[in-house]
Amino acid sequence: MSESNLKSMADLVSLSKRRGFVFQSSEVYGGLSSCYDYGPLGVELKNNIKNRWWKTMTLREDVVGIDASIFMHPQVWKASGHVDGFNDPMVDCKQCKSRYRADQIDTSKPCPACGSKDTFTEPRDFNLMFKTQMGPVEDSSSTVYMRPETAQGIFVNFLNVQSTMRMKLPFGIAQIGKAFRNEITPGNFVFRMREFEQMEMQYFLKPGTQMESFEKWREIRWQWHIDNGLRADRIRWKQHGPDELAHYADAAWDIEYQFAHGWGEMEGIHSRTDFDLTQHEKFSGKSLSYVDQMDGNKKYVPYVVETSVGADRCFLAVMSDAYRLENEGQGDSERVVMKFHPKLAPVKTAILPLMKKPELEDVARKLYDDVSSDYMSEYDVSGSIGKRYRRQDEIGTPFCMTVDYDSLTDQSVTIRDRDTMKQERINVSQVKNYLKDHFKF
Ligand code: ATP
Repeated sequence: MSESNLKSMADLVSLSKRRGFVFQSSEVYGGLSSCYDYGPLGVELKNNIKNRWWKTMTLREDVVGIDASIFMHPQVWKASGHVDGFNDPMVDCKQCKSRYRADQIDTSKPCPACGSKDTFTEPRDFNLMFKTQMGPVEDSSSTVYMRPETAQGIFVNFLNVQSTMRMKLPFGIAQIGKAFRNEITPGNFVFRMREFEQMEMQYFLKPGTQMESFEKWREIRWQWHIDNGLRADRIRWKQHGPDELAHYADAAWDIEYQFAHGWGEMEGIHSRTDFDLTQHEKFSGKSLSYVDQMDGNKKYVPYVVETSVGADRCFLAVMSDAYRLENEGQGDSERVVMKFHPKLAPVKTAILPLMKKPELEDVARKLYDDVSSDYMSEYDVSGSIGKRYRRQDEIGTPFCMTVDYDSLTDQSVTIRDRDTMKQERINVSQVKNYLKDHFKF
């Protein structure tokens, strides 16, 4: 049997659409560029990823969660540096008006869209924040921004959370939410969109202890991706060199995945010093210092180690990694199989009556009713059993259970394993235990 990995993003885009993982936004109107809708299976998979992140980050004594509003006081974005500095350099083709990020295009070469030579404008800064108006009066005082990152909602709530939850340093605040960036060149499916979702955690600590925390979080975050089932040879660390490091940061490493379009960032782990809290103190005029009762009531602005990961890029990595094309070397026996880690698989089990016969369907329906309240399950009775197995392989269902005529006498079903395609017979009364054992994480 031969097996190959995902070769091109187009294969994934096509499977995503065909099987209800991801659709183009507003497709009936011709689509909206760089915006995507997660379909029924996509939202299950993405929720499983987000739930794993939430559990990993908050089922611990030293991290709590919040859900901050997307709109924030406009001064927040002045303080954070986004109004003045959240820019990408942009160039335009003078002929066809196509826009590119100056750092992603060789301007000495012809325009990739129209082929014109010596056609690019000088690079100029383009602010990536979306602006909109709040309230019924449209003037500059009503301008608000769609948040370009979730982190600032955490920084401005630092003292609220610390005091209400009586947290002692070091502690973290975690959040999952939408972020918006008017990217100049979005693309590569859900890798770079204008609306996306982030999972961020800011860990507040005593100045001087940041490197120890930084290393600890690097380890936790790497392991989280491995535990999502990603193959270790497809992820790597990338350290920000001195020229890439933000002026306030004292360390920054990214976790990259080898996507079909090349290596790309999934997560950033950054040691941000006291930059953000100090800026908010300056702009708000309010103290955001912490009184350290363990250190003689010393008052200081905490340092921060941040872990910031994109839910959509994790989704894309998990989809890309799971994709396999297998050929058993016997004519038509090729199959696409999504080898999701069972804990992330959007559908856990499928119940398949061998034929559309009332006596088989009775047993199968009962089994479906029994397992579907605990496990996301599908019931499928249409088409040959081989076709139905292939359909489940393509959406990565770890176990299929087939009810046949023998089931009526021996009260057993055939369980088929997605990866090995091995089949075993088990008694219906044992099905729940079987699933419990195989979905124990
Ligand atoms: P890039 O260099 O790819 O633009 P970034 O360094 O600007 O990313 P961060 O600001 O560190 O990204 O954001 C944290 C995470 O948010 C990224 O690691 C990524 O997973 C996700 N992310 C950022 N921009 C986008 C986007 N346009 N679409 C989808 N996910 C994104």
